[in-house]
Amino acid sequence: MISIWEQRSFVGEPHLVVVGAGIVGLFTALHYQRKHPAHRVWVLERGPHPSGASVKNAGFACFGSPSELLADIAAEGEAAALARVEERWLGLRELRAELGDGNIGFEATGGHELFGNDLLYTLVAEGFDGLNRSLHSIFGRSVYEWHDPRKGDLGLRTEHLAFTDLEGPVDSGKLMRTLLAKVQAEGVQVHFSVGVKAIEESADGVVLQLASGEQLRAAQVVVATNGYARELLPQLDVQPARGQVLLTAPIPGLRLKGTYHADEGYLYFRDFAGGVLLGGGRNLDKAGEATTEDAVTPQIQEHLEQLLRTTILPDQPFTIARRWSGVMGFGSDGKTPLVERVSPHVVAAVRLSGMGVAIGIRVARRAAGLVGE
Ligand SMILES: Cc1cc2nc3c(=O)[nH]c(=O)nc-3n(C[C@H](O)[C@H](O)[C@H](O)COP(=O)(O)OP(=O)(O)OC[C@H]3O[C@@H](n4cnc5c(N)ncnc54)[C@H](O)[C@@H]3O)c2cc1C
Repeated sequence: MISIWEQRSFVGEPHLVVVGAGIVGLFTALHYQRKHPAHRVWVLERGPHPSGASVKNAGFACFGSPSELLADIAAEGEAAALARVEERWLGLRELRAELGDGNIGFEATGGHELFGNDLLYTLVAEGFDGLNRSLHSIFGRSVYEWHDPRKGDLGLRTEHLAFTDLEGPVDSGKLMRTLLAKVQAEGVQVHFSVGVKAIEESADGVVLQLASGEQLRAAQVVVATNGYARELLPQLDVQPARGQVLLTAPIPGLRLKGTYHADEGYLYFRDFAGGVLLGGGRNLDKAGEATTEDAVTPQIQEHLEQLLRTTILPDQPFTIARRWSGVMGFGSDGKTPLVERVSPHVVAAVRLSGMGVAIGIRVARRAAGLVGE
């Protein structure tokens, strides 16, 4: 026998099931629950806690670096590239307003990009003022300036340093913990260690086949599994793209502070807990890194360590305390997220293209809006 209270609060078929408890899945559930307070909203996550890129990234609240943005403009044209910068900037402001800087560990340290005396620097130096002029329409002010790399004695060995005061690091674990608590406090049920094996349309909703062998029915489903999207929706244009990271043990007297980019966004590092957190290098082996395998490789890890020795910590011994990887989702062409209804009761909100910290909250709002239609 089931009481009216159990029926109303615990056992009825959910109106919405979100698959994946990353930043996109949790914000989708939150936005939808706010619009439909009487609806039952569940998030199903196969990990024991949020386990995707949202807790594996390097914790950058950023909207791109000069070389990345100039490469995007060259590849896609100014309008498309600037529209994405605006999405990232608006997303970061919304994220900080929604969760609070203290609760996500945001620090207004500023962000940097390093350059040697090479072709990339020449190209960026030529485009620098024009880029600032273009960004004026979004930020209402100049965004990037050149800093003397020896100023402040950061310990870096680099020839040129671009700086913006508009970005900084976050603590991705704290961010996700805060978001999870908020989502649960507003009525969403989040179920961990529940993997979804398949989703099947039926006449009046969706049947989810769970990894446990059980079935669950829901009126609507949002798939928010980003780099893993094709496991459930093989027809989607989403390729996994693994990003590798390492963290050094604390380094006595570390002078580095803030977030740093190099190589068109392919390399990124920051200080964390007295050490250096460094990631990237996927461009060295794009085919090999198009995988969801939870692993790191000697080729990329050695490249990252070499960068520590030559550029980031040239005069300091270090040891590596931890290594990990995370899986992003990219399309075969461009960096546009995929937010669309893929069948009558299923919406996909995936392919964050390495920008989900910044744009996740806005992608989620679009997904929740699509479900509601
Ligand atoms: C190394 C690295 C550096 C990054 N740097 C930045 C950055 O500087 N700035 C930025 O904005 N973004 C950055 N990103 C990207 C950002 O982290 C992602 O875009 C964002 O976290 C994606 O969030 P998501 O919710 O879409 O996916 P995820 O966080 O990957 O969440 C998907 C969830 O779905 C779960 N799942 C998958 N399949 C199933 C299933 N079948 N059943 C149930 N659950 C399932 C997974 O376990 C996972 O928890 C970086 C990512 C990495 C890996």
